[in-house]
Amino acid sequence: MEEKQNLSAKRRCLSAEQFMKEAQERIDQIKSSGAPVTLIALDFDNFNYINDLYGYEAGDHVLKEICGHFNCILQEKDFFCRQHADHFLICLQTGDAAAASRIYVRLTDLKTTLAAFLPPHYPLAASGGILVVQNPEIPLSTLVDRANCARKLAKGTAENTFHIYDSWMDEDAQWKKQVTCMMEPALDKGEFKLYLQPKTLLKTGECIGAEALVRWNSPTYGMIYPDRFIPILERNGFIRRLDFFMLQKACGFLRMCAEKGIPLLPISVNFSRSHLHTEKLVERIFETVNQCGVSTHLIEIEFTESILSDDTERLIHIVSDLKLLGFRVSLDDFGSAYSSLNYLKDLPIDVVKIDKAFLNSSENSDRGKIVIAKVVELIKSLRMLCVMEGVETSAQIDFLQKLGCEIGQGYFFAKPMPSADYTEYLKRNPTTVDFYQHLGESKGKTPSYESVVPQEFQMDNWELYTLGKNIDMGLMKGYLDGDSTVQYVNDRALEYIGYNRQEVRELFHNSIVAFTVPEDVHIIRENAAYMIATGKPVEFKTRATRKDGKVIVLQGRSSCIIDNYGRPMGLYAFRDVTEELERTAALQHELEEKVRELQQVVSVGPQHDS
Ligand code: C2E
Ligand code: CA
Ligand code: CA
Repeated sequence: MEEKQNLSAKRRCLSAEQFMKEAQERIDQIKSSGAPVTLIALDFDNFNYINDLYGYEAGDHVLKEICGHFNCILQEKDFFCRQHADHFLICLQTGDAAAASRIYVRLTDLKTTLAAFLPPHYPLAASGGILVVQNPEIPLSTLVDRANCARKLAKGTAENTFHIYDSWMDEDAQWKKQVTCMMEPALDKGEFKLYLQPKTLLKTGECIGAEALVRWNSPTYGMIYPDRFIPILERNGFIRRLDFFMLQKACGFLRMCAEKGIPLLPISVNFSRSHLHTEKLVERIFETVNQCGVSTHLIEIEFTESILSDDTERLIHIVSDLKLLGFRVSLDDFGSAYSSLNYLKDLPIDVVKIDKAFLNSSENSDRGKIVIAKVVELIKSLRMLCVMEGVETSAQIDFLQKLGCEIGQGYFFAKPMPSADYTEYLKRNPTTVDFYQHLGESKGKTPSYESVVPQEFQMDNWELYTLGKNIDMGLMKGYLDGDSTVQYVNDRALEYIGYNRQEVRELFHNSIVAFTVPEDVHIIRENAAYMIATGKPVEFKTRATRKDGKVIVLQGRSSCIIDNYGRPMGLYAFRDVTEELERTAALQHELEEKVRELQQVVSVGPQHDS
């Protein structure tokens, strides 16, 4: 009996060749007997790591156990093969996708089976594609491709997932191939176009800038919208080139505006989450903008909210560096993907763009309205600007204005348009006011300051940025007026005080004087007043309290610079001189001891002599 069971168990696991032969026979039988057939393609995420971590022998063991498990689950008339590596093909005698799904779930429930072979939390997730064979005339290889196509869609979710094949998936795979083949020549031939969608200050109805949105004008397919190709480019990495291309286009447009006397309003450019690991991202963005001769404060970088699920610390670093260089940074699609409330307070961004889905949900329900009101309130309490996307009606504008949301973008004002149309739009909607004033950003603006600060101390942001990276000194930059907030702090300065950037933000609300011992704060304040009044640099020596409680002495020089909006800023370059002072004090002490000893010898000496 056991012998017989073993035999039938063995029979269910076929060689790949045998599998294809028998599967074809089954499919042929659909025509004669109507017996249904379903194909499943299945593979595992992270399987190769088993080999890497525990060796090939362990990998083989796991595969054998999986085969044994499949043998137990599958019915008499089902069979399977290992196509290669950890890829399996399974043939079921059912025409019911739901039944096949249930079998799939049991097949991939391997926890108990593999408990003895893998650590309990090993992330071995299966991805599967299920295809109910409807048309027996289609070649088997195509059917297998289709099952695999559905499997690939389930991949990378880190959970046991499957998809049931649908004809759109096939078209989808074809389209992916098309896009991948066409994207490079399309970029070279200039088929990607810059479209601009105006952003409007709700209070006055004036245009205050635009968002750059890509359009693909293909000779074969006509106008292709981003949703059809951006996700594909994000997967194959080409988006990184396209984003820089769009940045260049936006800068080119601004350059043209400057030359033709068209009002210079900021443009925001989308940067995909895959840039998080682009090397020297900030430097490359700066170089691109700088080469076009465009001021960084005319460019806003939009990072989509989903980027927050990646490396947050790295993102914070990138955003801080971009801000130092004068760029504005915004968080796009807020509320669409990730529950990011927690991170929002840590990110030194200027603008939050609320996802348009929020507006739709607020349309018909009071609860939706409450949610959106709370979101706006939250953004404002963090002192960030609030942009509402997808504004389509005047009722929405009234509602947003009541909440205090400053800026709107949407079809109500204008759809995304070619850049030439945008210049016409600007002519029809002239901007007469200083919108920064409306946004409360010109607080403390001192136009006469520029004339006060000598040119040599007007270090530009790029100089400061490279200096901060290379100099072996603490470097800080902060507003001299208002609440003295730190705008930049380099790694060496953080080392001195023992806090990281996040702590500086969270514990000290970025206050430049927060680490200074209270008795010395007046020195910094008086120096600031002196610098503002005279524009001259000053030397300083103040005490600060480290995170570990130790009081250190920082000695350095501060000078005035002005930011892009004409606000006075202090640049502080300093060293931790505590040890130096301690050493000097010890030396002094030693010297004094020596002198005292000597004096004693001298005073005792003559007595001896006489
Ligand atoms: P997004 O960044 O959220 O851009 C806003 C999208 O909403 C645009 O779609 C815009 O046309 C659309 N929109 C604007 N106002 C309204 C409105 O009132 N109602 C409705 N229903 N929709 C409105 P678009 O241009 O099709 O872009 C889709 C997405 O593609 C963008 O969403 C962005 O995530 C991405 N994308 C576009 N261009 C680029 C690019 O150059 N680089 C990257 N990385 N992504 C881009
Ligand atoms: Ca955007
Ligand atoms: Ca958006």
